[in-house]
Amino acid sequence: MPATRPQRPPQAAAPHLARFGQRLILSTLHRLIRVDTPPRLAVLIFHRVLPTPDLFLASDPDVQAFTALMQLIRERFSPLSLAEGLHRLARNTLPPRAVSITFDDGYADNLKVALPVLQRLEIPATLFIASGYLDGRCMWNDQLCQAIRRCPGTSVDLTAYGAGIRPLGGPRERAMLAQDLLRLFTYEASEPREQVAAELAARYAPDLTSPMLTRTQVRELGDQGIEIGGHTVTHPILARTPDQTAYREIAENKEDLEGLLGRRLRFFAYPNGKPDLDFTATHAAMARTLGYQAALTTGHGVAVAGTDPMRLPRFTPWERTPTRFGIRLLLNMRHTA
Ligand SMILES: [Zn+2]
Repeated sequence: MPATRPQRPPQAAAPHLARFGQRLILSTLHRLIRVDTPPRLAVLIFHRVLPTPDLFLASDPDVQAFTALMQLIRERFSPLSLAEGLHRLARNTLPPRAVSITFDDGYADNLKVALPVLQRLEIPATLFIASGYLDGRCMWNDQLCQAIRRCPGTSVDLTAYGAGIRPLGGPRERAMLAQDLLRLFTYEASEPREQVAAELAARYAPDLTSPMLTRTQVRELGDQGIEIGGHTVTHPILARTPDQTAYREIAENKEDLEGLLGRRLRFFAYPNGKPDLDFTATHAAMARTLGYQAALTTGHGVAVAGTDPMRLPRFTPWERTPTRFGIRLLLNMRHTA
């Protein structure tokens, strides 16, 4: 599920002036903070790319913002596939400001909205797919958001789930409530989050359509040169899952996607992904045993030569204007893992 961060509206500026300012600011910052030695690989994480902005999905860029960010990556950074990035990291041959793009979970807009942008700019990408949601199922966070979006009345009674009676308000208040509940149910609720979300969706959004990819679309992405990676079957927080179940989640997801694509999966992303909070060394060992070459976290920073390949950091600036995004990305490159 996506991180929850505020989204700022893009600033208006004459395009040529904005471009000139961007070039000046980023090249000055780049000279000042010296992030090319030793060589380092930044891996960016996205979830969805929306056709139009959505208050409930404020941490996901819309296609206009995504296009501007990818243009920045193409012009001011060195986009590489994850496989090439890791290969060149091991051989000390990374270009300056090397960046790999990844997407988590398996949303259909990755194919319909993001892929055309990536192809036009010739930027490679890797998709980590939670295979249990392909072909029409919904993740718990999407069920919960849709239930809060469509719940009738002025308040919703969540006392059965330990979350009290919450006022609903307009779209903005509802979007904020949904973010509050996502945070609450991710780690703190007594009921399993999947059960809460499924019950609320059944009550308030019974005709919810799935935003996830179909199996045919996953094959299509693979055929278009997008690397597919594993992300478990049902996206559990591995550190809160019995070891046997965690192993089965990683193994069955890999086997399923390999059968679908007819090739081996090389990379894995831990669900939620915070090191030692959402997964531990036990899960890294499981992924390695199952044949993964590398595994991605959501810990900040960038990979350098000595970084553990089963704990590769990922980070995406939350800024939506290209210049601010670029500044944050360069600053993140100072933090080596
Ligand atoms: Zn995920």
